[in-house]
Amino acid sequence: MSTTETAIASAEAHSAHNYHPLPVVVASADGAWMTDVEGRRYLDMLAGYSALNFGHGNRRLIEAAKAQLDRVTLTSRAFHHDRFADFCTQLAELCGMEMVLPMNTGAEAVETAVKTARKWGYQVKDIPDGMAKIIVAANNFHGRTTTIISFSTDQEARADFGPYTPGFEIVPYGDLTALRAAMTENTVAVLMEPIQGEAGVLVPPPGYLPGVRELTRERNVLFIADEIQSGLGRTGKTFACEHEGVVPDMYVLGKALGGGVVPVSAVVSSAEVLGVYRPGEHGSTFGGNPLACAVALEVIAMLRTGEFQQRAAELGDHLHQELGLLVGGGAVEAVRGRGLWAGVDIVPSRGTGREISEKLMDRRVLVKDTHGSTIRIAPPLVISKEDLDWGLEQLREVLRG
Ligand code: PLP
Repeated sequence: MSTTETAIASAEAHSAHNYHPLPVVVASADGAWMTDVEGRRYLDMLAGYSALNFGHGNRRLIEAAKAQLDRVTLTSRAFHHDRFADFCTQLAELCGMEMVLPMNTGAEAVETAVKTARKWGYQVKDIPDGMAKIIVAANNFHGRTTTIISFSTDQEARADFGPYTPGFEIVPYGDLTALRAAMTENTVAVLMEPIQGEAGVLVPPPGYLPGVRELTRERNVLFIADEIQSGLGRTGKTFACEHEGVVPDMYVLGKALGGGVVPVSAVVSSAEVLGVYRPGEHGSTFGGNPLACAVALEVIAMLRTGEFQQRAAELGDHLHQELGLLVGGGAVEAVRGRGLWAGVDIVPSRGTGREISEKLMDRRVLVKDTHGSTIRIAPPLVISKEDLDWGLEQLREVLRG
């Protein structure tokens, strides 16, 4: 057996089969490229589901991590440490908000957003105990915890994991009338992805996000934007909400906040909202640790220049122009997205998303399918135009084949 086959067989035997990875075993990576255990190079057009916006092995991030590794890595929140205040201050400033509550993974940050909204509902909005409702969108993806999958509409994500957490109302994504109808005096929040990533990079109709903003403001309901996948440069702006001129009450961030080096997530909001917490009411041993803060501070500094956002916007325009040319040619049904982020719906007779992804892998391009017939393209924002064009040429070849 080859090294690749041995590694995969061993992983299959000793790990839970909760993923179905493409049969490539990565050994190292740099920028937009990954190298497998047998020395083959692949263009990464997925970027760890947007966790690697700044590329693999980004020097600034690696140097920041190395320097911090030699100083202090973990204190727990039992003590202060000297990177924490800077991290919170600078992240709040980047978001135009006042306070930060750091966690580690995206799902933890979403859980934190849910808990925060409920607490705000009881303490500030004066909702009767146990009655708080949060409205979410159909086809959402916010993570994998028991509460989060309770408001998923994806049977694969939900089945056999009940009993489910109550307190959520699901409305169709993009439908303001349905959202208005779902609101009651006990609604504390609307939790949504400004672009639905896992659902296939679904961009809501123009005016939807401003409509959500207006409705939530009118009804004294928090608008929580889950920008875990869409935020931090991916769409050509720091936040996807900005494309529609919308400022939510709360950002939920993750993935790229840790630069693909360490898991870092956060809820960022106003002092009124995050001010509801008292010591002992919420926490995480690793949340806001020195190593996480050091790396995230570098991420924030890179985002502050705007260069990554600009790159995503420019290369994104090019990507969408090229992908747009494929629509109607017999192999591609539709293309959606914003910036360096696209969902490409393959005509079913041309193969499943998985089959197309495998054929692209054979041509040394790595993407991942989602929901049967869609492939998702989200390269690191540091990808060169030449590499992007080469990747697109491989896609055209596969679709021609
Ligand atoms: N929210 C969104 C919008 C996501 O795309 C994801 C992950 O894909 C999550 C939450 C969950 O993040 P994590 O996998 O870090 O828990």
